[in-house]
Amino acid sequence: MQQKAWAAVFEGPHKRFSLKEFDVCSAPEGMAGLRLIASGICGTDVHIKNGKIPVGFPSIIGHEFVGQIEEISPEDSGRSGLTAGDRVISVIACPCGECLLCRQGDDANCVRMGVTNAGDPDVPPHFFGGFAEYNLSPVQNLVKIPAETDAAAAAVFACAGPTAIHAFSLARQAGFVLGEASSAVVQGIGPVGLFALMYLASAGIKNVIALTVRENPAKRALALALGASRVLSYEKDGADAVAQTIQEVSAGLGADLVYEASGNPDAFTQGLGMLRNRGLYLVPGQYSNGRNVEIAPQTITFKALRIIGSSQYSMRDVREYLSFFTKRRGLEAAIRSAASCYAVRQINDAFDDMDAGLTVKCLLVPSPGGGQT
Ligand SMILES: [Zn+2]
Ligand SMILES: [Zn+2]
Repeated sequence: MQQKAWAAVFEGPHKRFSLKEFDVCSAPEGMAGLRLIASGICGTDVHIKNGKIPVGFPSIIGHEFVGQIEEISPEDSGRSGLTAGDRVISVIACPCGECLLCRQGDDANCVRMGVTNAGDPDVPPHFFGGFAEYNLSPVQNLVKIPAETDAAAAAVFACAGPTAIHAFSLARQAGFVLGEASSAVVQGIGPVGLFALMYLASAGIKNVIALTVRENPAKRALALALGASRVLSYEKDGADAVAQTIQEVSAGLGADLVYEASGNPDAFTQGLGMLRNRGLYLVPGQYSNGRNVEIAPQTITFKALRIIGSSQYSMRDVREYLSFFTKRRGLEAAIRSAASCYAVRQINDAFDDMDAGLTVKCLLVPSPGGGQT
């Protein structure tokens, strides 16, 4: 009997996802068939649903698919070293490999970037995107999850981790040595901010201050468990306490590094004010067409700031993420406990709960009780 699997189809901005059951087709040459382990819902997907990032439809959006290889041809297996049963992260980006950026090693910012999930879900083989129980991905876009790693835990930061790491790699390229910093501020404790503070604490930075607008006890506890030295919320602690704490930990100079992971346009103006002279501002978080804000550009000159934007990530960032994650297996339980799990067919509930601020990270899994690993 032909297998079937559920997919959640994006029908356009502000619309509920429609749920469709499609036949599982054989993987075309060069592609592998993956069975869902866990597929994260990203802040980007919320922006897509809210019409702030334009995407064609109908389509299966979702770009954080973690799955188990069910079908791969012997030729593709031989070329890639991947085999049926391997657990993988599927990366949706398809850089052209030929443009100036690709040739210079900046393929995350390819000017002719393609994606794997642009196909029409109503046309076989249907399963191009992440919000589904099955996925077809180019074999060259798969990164194997080490056997000792909990794949569902790795799914929590499958996109946020590489996103954060890519910004840090751009900082390294610009000559910034993380280990020499003694104070860092992370604006926003969504998945990117949480991973960034874990990375900063692991780099040996003594004072990693996490900031959030809304008080959320679950996120506060997780930020502390992952390595934040202080977590402050504007709602509970207030702006004065934020400013005072940054002054205290930096001997009145301002932070060595500020990492913008909130996506709130106002955070950018605030972040400029938190930095010391020659401080570094990493800005991967402003990922939607939100509002414009006024800034005082002279702050950049007077403080001689270094400001680096970061967008997307490369396959090598995903590999570095998995290697980093696998070395911190002690945190797997805390990370996995932060995930709210939903069946693919419950996707509209998941988006409602995200909108209501009830979740740290939503994962679509085969059964809502928790993903298989
Ligand atoms: Zn994402
Ligand atoms: Zn390119």
